[in-house]
Amino acid sequence: MAQQLVRLLGVDDFRSELSRKLDLLERQIDSELQKTAEIERCNNDLERFRESVNKRERLEHVCESICPGTVRKLTPRRDVPTYPKYTLSQETIEALKTPTFDVWQWAPNEMLSCIEFMFHDLGLVQEFNINAITLKRWLVCSSDLRPDPDPNPDSGPEPNPDSDPDPDLLCVQENYRDVPFHNFRHCFSVTQMMHGMVHLCNLKAKLSMTEVVILITSAICHDLDHPGYNNTYQINAHTEMAVRYDNVSPLENHHCAVTFQILADPDFNIFSNIRPELFMQIQEGITELILATDMARHEEIMSAFTCCVDKFDYENIEHLRLLKQVLIKCCDISNEVRPTDVSEPWVDCLLQEYFMQSDREKFEGLPVMSFMDRDVVTKPNVQIGFLQMVLIPMFEAVAKLFPELGEVMVQRLREARARYENLLQPEEIDEERSF
Ligand code: 5GP
Ligand code: MN
Repeated sequence: MAQQLVRLLGVDDFRSELSRKLDLLERQIDSELQKTAEIERCNNDLERFRESVNKRERLEHVCESICPGTVRKLTPRRDVPTYPKYTLSQETIEALKTPTFDVWQWAPNEMLSCIEFMFHDLGLVQEFNINAITLKRWLVCSSDLRPDPDPNPDSGPEPNPDSDPDPDLLCVQENYRDVPFHNFRHCFSVTQMMHGMVHLCNLKAKLSMTEVVILITSAICHDLDHPGYNNTYQINAHTEMAVRYDNVSPLENHHCAVTFQILADPDFNIFSNIRPELFMQIQEGITELILATDMARHEEIMSAFTCCVDKFDYENIEHLRLLKQVLIKCCDISNEVRPTDVSEPWVDCLLQEYFMQSDREKFEGLPVMSFMDRDVVTKPNVQIGFLQMVLIPMFEAVAKLFPELGEVMVQRLREARARYENLLQPEEIDEERSF
């Protein structure tokens, strides 16, 4: 009877259905538990990975502060840069061609747009079949693209007070460091002066397009990854950079190495569409010009140029090489050619970098050069010496070839010298006389 009732009510079916469902549930719970364990394992792996990255970054930072310029790992970013594009007004386009251009009023994306514009304006994009995206990617600042800073500061490494460059990016702007003087704005300033020289001296009519692209590209790359400590420091402190280059122009050799490390990647090579022989010619030209910016070679280059300037021959390869070297040297140290409100902040930046070096040299027991010593140097005396001994003679020599520079540049330099002479303290005047 009971069995009949069980069959009638379908209790067996119900029981087996129930047990099947229980089985299923158990399996689901089991799988969920496995997933939780897997997530836990992933979390642990992630934590370990994050720690090893932090440790490595801290180690690299320590290495970098002990021996600047030694830690370099350039890894390309392959996306198409989308930094906020700045559209240049006609007024800016005209101002860009002159030495009165104010290099201080532009944000990084605006400086990038200006440099990009120069490549197009000078006809270099067309002449060398440069891919417009590659040009952007080669130049671009990616800080605009980076996610917002971590809201939880405990979760990442300490912010780096020296602001070393982000080593994960393989482009020009990211490889200028956040140092007081040799930063991306200095690169922009030198490049803009070169653009101005090309226009003022009508260089496109006198030089080949290859020479023009060498001049502009060298200006852009000439101080890449400058650590803010000069060759004398590198040599005296036996940094890895100095050892690597046998104490011969360590910084300039390093700027060249970083330049060609960037161009070695096809995605970042603005010259990827030209013949290999032409690329080699451009590479050689850029190397010659960047190496010429070592002020230790100033006398050598200037005496050779002075010899040829009176009989300058645009067909003579040696004359052309010297002219390009002198042009990049002029642009490199041209701040005093600019209006006072543009040039003066640069002197402050330079002294800040000099003092950063001399303080460190004192701390490390290395020789200190008096022109870098905060206890010795003043703004007027450092500038009068530089104007008198270096700037005015060099620009006078170039103005022999390009008289149009006489008024806009040589005259400005003489005015700057007079202005600094008026700022000298009485005791400094006596020192200048005895000098
Ligand atoms: P750099 O290739 O390092 O940018 O320029 C060469 C060097 O010239 C600088 O490191 C700096 O020592 C010197 N220099 C450039 N501009 C000025 C300037 O306006 N005043 C002085 N005193 N030195 C300068
Ligand atoms: Mn420079």
